[in-house]
Amino acid sequence: MTGKHDDSEGRLKSVMEAHHITPRLQDQILQLSAFHTYPAPGVLIGAFMVDYALELLKADPDQKLYGVCETPKCLPDALQVIARCTTGNNRLRVVPIGKFAVTLNGPSDKENTEAVRVYVDLKKLKKYPVIDIWYANSPAYDKHTMKDQLQDEIFKAGRDILSFEKVRVGVNPKKKWKSVTCPGCGETVPDYLVVDGHCGACGSMKYYENI
Ligand SMILES: [Zn+2]
Repeated sequence: MTGKHDDSEGRLKSVMEAHHITPRLQDQILQLSAFHTYPAPGVLIGAFMVDYALELLKADPDQKLYGVCETPKCLPDALQVIARCTTGNNRLRVVPIGKFAVTLNGPSDKENTEAVRVYVDLKKLKKYPVIDIWYANSPAYDKHTMKDQLQDEIFKAGRDILSFEKVRVGVNPKKKWKSVTCPGCGETVPDYLVVDGHCGACGSMKYYENI
């Protein structure tokens, strides 16, 4: 018996072949889909965005790159898998602005550096009616009947729905820090994360109750 995941992977492979996606990008998209757990429309568009940003920067994913993602939905995974800007290596910043846009730059020892910002261009979406209604979260988009059509359109479009601009971004140098014991819980945190004498978990970032 074939699992749901295998079905969607098989479909994804044949759609990518049909649209002549390069073998390298196909591999990256398959990795991305597995990482995200399924080929969500947002991660597929994200793959084209990050691939485009890398080319504009003339960068290679093996280089140390820094990414900013303007939405927490789907798109951060494309930066994590393809550009290897991850939450854990501290080279990914997610700013919850709510736009489908990424900014990518290389390392710099200056206070700021040139970056490339790639975004979904609403004007260009008009040529792709299914992406257009999905992107607008319109009730006209029916997930149950239009999912495959949406995936086909995303691969048909590729970079055709994207635009870019050159921008300047700030560079955050690594900070020196000391370990501080919180008087509330007795656990330690870096000094720069102490707020009003306490750790976040004893303050505004409290997210659990002891049981
Ligand atoms: Zn505490």
